[in-house]
Amino acid sequence: MKMDGEIMQAGGDTIFGQIIRGEIKTDFLHEDDQCVAFDDIEPQAPVHFLVVPKKPVPRLSDAQDSDEKLMGHLMLVARAVAKQKGLSDGFRLIVNDGPEGGQEVMHIHVHVMGGRQLTWPPG
Ligand code: 5GP
Repeated sequence: MKMDGEIMQAGGDTIFGQIIRGEIKTDFLHEDDQCVAFDDIEPQAPVHFLVVPKKPVPRLSDAQDSDEKLMGHLMLVARAVAKQKGLSDGFRLIVNDGPEGGQEVMHIHVHVMGGRQLTWPPG
């Protein structure tokens, strides 16, 4: 993968990078050239999966204008996998950003949750 004039390893070096590169065995719900989706290891709802770009953008605050298509792609993959999971009554997408946003893994990802009535606001 070539980014900003440098060759970068797909996924970077977080735990999600290891998952993307297959170093940690994970069943993918979806994989294409831009992203993967897999179930969250600590689900907060009956359905809780993550959509993660292969490009290792640490957080939404770091995304570039040139990432616009990629960010949109993550949402459409989230929708497709939610449909595959049977979430016809609705679901929620969340992107945590940075410490106050509650982000723990510094590789941008979209949480998709559903399968129960979700409440608002989140904590
Ligand atoms: P964040 O707080 O960064 O938005 O969310 C990180 C998410 O990644 C958490 O919901 C956490 O349960 C999930 N997670 C962390 N490590 C792993 C892992 O090794 N495998 C999977 N499938 N999920 C993980």
